[in-house]
Amino acid sequence: MKEHVNMQLPRKLFKTVSLSCFLFFFSLPYALAETQYVTIGTGSITGVYYPTGGAVCHLINEIKDSEKIHCEIKSTPGSIYNLAGIRSGELDLGVVQSDWQYHAYSGTSRYAEQGKFFTLRSLFSVHAEPFTVLARADANVNHFEDLLGKRINIGSPRSGQRATMDMLLDLYGWKLQDFAAVSELNPSEQAKALCDDKVDAIIYVVGHPNSSIKEASGACQTKLVNVSGDKISSLINTRSYYRNAVIPGGMYRGSDQDTTTFGVGATIVTTTLLPEEAAYNLVKAVFENHGLFVQLHPAFQDLNKNGMVSDSLTAPLHPGAVRYYKEAGLMK
Ligand code: GLU
Repeated sequence: MKEHVNMQLPRKLFKTVSLSCFLFFFSLPYALAETQYVTIGTGSITGVYYPTGGAVCHLINEIKDSEKIHCEIKSTPGSIYNLAGIRSGELDLGVVQSDWQYHAYSGTSRYAEQGKFFTLRSLFSVHAEPFTVLARADANVNHFEDLLGKRINIGSPRSGQRATMDMLLDLYGWKLQDFAAVSELNPSEQAKALCDDKVDAIIYVVGHPNSSIKEASGACQTKLVNVSGDKISSLINTRSYYRNAVIPGGMYRGSDQDTTTFGVGATIVTTTLLPEEAAYNLVKAVFENHGLFVQLHPAFQDLNKNGMVSDSLTAPLHPGAVRYYKEAGLMK
């Protein structure tokens, strides 16, 4: 009997120790897994990229403890800055226009010298961004061509609108000297400049409604200007990253009729450096909460999941995103 008791004790001890060891080693990788911090480059706080980054980060940070991923947004000049920041490693993710996503990945247009951004990866697309021209009502600008000889704000050099405007200047064969004055104000400065009569028109490639156009059209007499004609139609017909766009009449004071223009899609991109698990968790957080996501900004109201995984994406999808899209039945 005595012997029997003595035998039980070491066995129990062995069991307890081995169970603890098992639990310790099993949970070790999880305990040691570092939180993945991701920074998303957006745009001016008066645009739609900034709240877009805010919406994405909000949903990611809901799972920050369970999935060890933490998201932060950075206000930037826009697409061109974001692509450069992602390429240099300063940013992990960015919101970028579909035209500049295309050119960066393909190494064309302004990226011809730098070459292809091979490691660029798409996650999903978001809202449409019409090429938007807002003029003072007294400036006598009724169509894009009327801008010639006027004072215009072409936007800051690393913004998407400036890059797209540069493309249009080439297309129309216009030089900066063909305008009475050209300024490079950022979106948060341009509404005031327009209403203070410092410029006749401002240019913005942006989702609607947005606070910059609301601010200008609310503070002084303005109107949205059509950007259409043969040159624009041929752009839309020959480049996959451009599309027809309409800014609905009545959205802004002074513009009761629909405004016809062309546009791009806003997209969320990253690189192959983002771990697969992080990309998976990130897109999952957005897509599983799609109903909430589309309510986070009025420019998102028409977004549907199928369009978000296919529209405007030139760079290959990140493998972590593909894993989730297949799992969710959004891809074969
Ligand atoms: N499309 C603009 C750009 O790429 C930004 C628009 C926004 O901030 O919503 O610079």
